[in-house]
Amino acid sequence: MQGVDLVDRDVLLITLDSCRYDVAADANTPHLSRLGPLLRAESPGTYTLPAHAALFNGFLPRPASGRFLLSGKPVEMIWRSAAARPTGGSVAVTFTGPTLMEHYVERGHRVIGAGGVTFFDPADTANSLPKPFPEFHYFGRSSRALSNLDSRVADRADTLPLTHVETLADRCADADHFFLFVNCSSTHIPYTTPNSPLTEQTSDALRRLYRLHDTKVPWPAGPPPLSRDDVRHLLDMQRRALEWADHQLGRLFARLATRRPLVVVCADHGEEFGESGRYGHGHPHSSVSTVPLWCGLLDPEEYSG
Ligand SMILES: [Zn+2]
Repeated sequence: MQGVDLVDRDVLLITLDSCRYDVAADANTPHLSRLGPLLRAESPGTYTLPAHAALFNGFLPRPASGRFLLSGKPVEMIWRSAAARPTGGSVAVTFTGPTLMEHYVERGHRVIGAGGVTFFDPADTANSLPKPFPEFHYFGRSSRALSNLDSRVADRADTLPLTHVETLADRCADADHFFLFVNCSSTHIPYTTPNSPLTEQTSDALRRLYRLHDTKVPWPAGPPPLSRDDVRHLLDMQRRALEWADHQLGRLFARLATRRPLVVVCADHGEEFGESGRYGHGHPHSSVSTVPLWCGLLDPEEYSG
């Protein structure tokens, strides 16, 4: 990309776990909007593991509306492996090494990861996603902990990575160059945040939704297990969880804006709420593969004063 030196930029790569595109389009996200227009994109994965495996290899969700814009200039790809077939399209950063993390380590960046869903628990030796990070901070529940509805339908604060933005910002600010990845779990079921605790009504709807997620088969004919009001209520919970994430990301952006980092924020996958009879993710459906994406270069003037 001519005129903008992106190769050695600091990087913020953020995933909003399970966030639906239509929820993002309805949400008030002033900090994400400052990055650039909301793009409707298509994820290469239907659940956390394949979506992040692709992402860490430079394969972002592909925009289905508009193009990636960086400082107003369109690019076909933000990251592309040097080992990939040559392309005539514009690429912001060509990376070497099998993953983005190994590439940025090689270039001398401090590479930091943070996660909140159990695929990122580094204590579980079966988890591959945190392994390429020399430094990983996991805030979620143990992936091997016994889980039942009482432990899953719960208020959350410290287990959400974005509760800890100041700590993460400190670690980036201390480094000459940084690459920070954060998997945000606030938009993942149960959608609770410090700003949106459980109520009796939401607890009941979430318990039914968890049972439907666990079923993983289309609901048989008959009345839907969640009413339209239930679904509207649950989607509203995810919207508020995204708005809380936007507020927290605004604090992170304010701390790091003077570094003018390259920022990509997207969902790893969406979530179905019964549109074709199923609930949750991990199966192919447009509500699962369609995700929101924002990208841009942080402008320190937006955060001055
Ligand atoms: Zn996920």
